[in-house]
Amino acid sequence: MVKPQTPSAETPARPPQLKIEREAHKLEKRLCRLVGQAISDYQMIEAGDRVMVCMSGGKDSYGMLDILLKMQARAPVPFELIAVNLDQKQPGFPAEVLPNYLSQLGVKFHIETQDTYSIVKKNIPEGKTMCSLCSRLRRGILYRVARELGCNKIALGHHRDDILQTFFLNMFFGGKLKGMPAKLVSDNGEFVVIRPLAYVAEKDLARWATERAFPIIPCTLCGSQDNLQRQVVGEMLREWERKHPGRVENLFASLQNVVPSHLMDHAQFNFKDLQPTGLPNEDGDKAFDPETFPEPQALPGVSVVSLSEG
Ligand code: SF4
Repeated sequence: MVKPQTPSAETPARPPQLKIEREAHKLEKRLCRLVGQAISDYQMIEAGDRVMVCMSGGKDSYGMLDILLKMQARAPVPFELIAVNLDQKQPGFPAEVLPNYLSQLGVKFHIETQDTYSIVKKNIPEGKTMCSLCSRLRRGILYRVARELGCNKIALGHHRDDILQTFFLNMFFGGKLKGMPAKLVSDNGEFVVIRPLAYVAEKDLARWATERAFPIIPCTLCGSQDNLQRQVVGEMLREWERKHPGRVENLFASLQNVVPSHLMDHAQFNFKDLQPTGLPNEDGDKAFDPETFPEPQALPGVSVVSLSEG
């Protein structure tokens, strides 16, 4: 009689290589699912679109192009992708890295060379932050390039953590409840700007970059200290996530679950003309009843101790 097989101590352990491949496959599936979901939720890409994919040479933009190419191959509607890099002539910028990578990939691309570095250096006193002039110049050039390439959409590689950081920076320093949009018309009114990685966690992009061995170009070439406040907020969020797993997911979910009647912006909700309706409403004011939240043990991976700490 043939006995059914049961795992035993003698069953050989799964070879590490196989395990790595399985993990990579799971990560790829997750990235595709999240990018697909964001594209669908915001109708980011439509038939006939010509999308300029902005490539900085950082892990996020490589990841964005990589996943968008996979989505394009299986998309039910045709659209075009054109990878664009702006070589700002920063000292030490390895100008051959992106063209080599993009040529090997066989994707349409354009490298725009503009020495904004010298302009910024000439106009910003030593020790002052160069980022605002630099990014203003970069934006103007990218709009022109998008126009010349006939693109109607511009894809940027900001991810979930960038969006949350922007949200907190706007609250802390701008007094605004405002994040970074997944899709919006450009400030000159000419293009639709999309962020297909809006649902993707930065740590997944870092893992994907290692998995795919992208030829990363360091982002410190300009010598500017890229937005110290953003780094501080980024660390704050990572610390929260370490101490309270799931908190970042909840924070991000809250950006998609806004209740204007329970905030204080009378431009978003007409408080002035409120009248009793005579009808019960679950979302109506509950007077002295406290808000109810899930029991600590109902939150996956969160201990009672860690919740009470926060
Ligand atoms: S970090 Fe450097 S390249 Fe980036 S915006 Fe600032 S000055 Fe420009």
